[in-house]
Amino acid sequence: MIEKVDLIYHVYYMEMEFVMVKILIVEDEKSIANLIYDALSNVGYRCKIVFDGKMAAEEIEENKYDLILLDVMLPEIDGFELIEYTLQFQTPVIFLTAKADVKYRVKGLKLGAEDYIVKPFDISELLARIEVVLRRYNKTSEIINTGNLTINLYSRCVKKDGEEVELTYKEFELLVLLIKNQGIALYREMIYETIWNNDFDSDTRTVDLHIQRLRKKLGLENQIKTVYRVGYIYKEQ
Ligand code: CA
Repeated sequence: MIEKVDLIYHVYYMEMEFVMVKILIVEDEKSIANLIYDALSNVGYRCKIVFDGKMAAEEIEENKYDLILLDVMLPEIDGFELIEYTLQFQTPVIFLTAKADVKYRVKGLKLGAEDYIVKPFDISELLARIEVVLRRYNKTSEIINTGNLTINLYSRCVKKDGEEVELTYKEFELLVLLIKNQGIALYREMIYETIWNNDFDSDTRTVDLHIQRLRKKLGLENQIKTVYRVGYIYKEQ
C-alpha cells in the first residue's frame, strides 16, 4: 500500500511540474539573480538560476523552459552568443542587461529576443513584460493542478477529484493566494490586506473563518497549516 501512495504522490507532483511555467534566470550577479528568483517564485513561476553562459547552455539542453531571462555580460559565453544557441529550442528570451545603448538593444532584438530590459529595472515592470511574452507564446498557466485539486483561473472553477466544488468569490481568491505561494508562510495581515482590501466590515478574524471553510469544503486540513503567530501556509503533503 505504501508503494501505491508514493505513486499517487508522484503523479500529482508531475502534473504540477507540467503546468507551472518554468523560467531560467541567467545572471552572474548573485544579488540580482536572487532578487529576480524571489519575485518570480512569489507569483508562482518555477525558476532556476545559472551564473554563466556555459551552465545556461547545458541547462537548456537538459531541461525544457518556457522563458529565459538572459544577461548579456556573462562569464564563459555571453548572452549575445548564447541566444543563437537557445533559439533552436524555440524558447523565448528576454535580455536583462546594463547595456542601455540603443545599438545593443537593436542587436539584442535582431538576434531574436522577445524583449530587452535595461538594468536597473523595476520588478513589477519585469513581471508585466514576462507576462506579455508568455501570453504571446500561450504559456500562461491558467490551470493549476495540485494534489487532488484542479483550479481554472479563468473560469474560476475548482474541482476536487474531478468534482466541482462551489467556492465564494473570497474563498477562491484565498485559495489561489495560498497555492501560488506554496511553502511560504503568509502573514494573516498580508492575506487580509490582499483579499479584503476595501472591505470595511471585516477584520483579520475573517481570514480565519475563510480558512476554516476552505479546509472543510476542499478537505485541506493537512495542506493549509496554521503557522503560530504568523498566519497560514499551504503545503502539499
Ligand atoms: Ca552580468
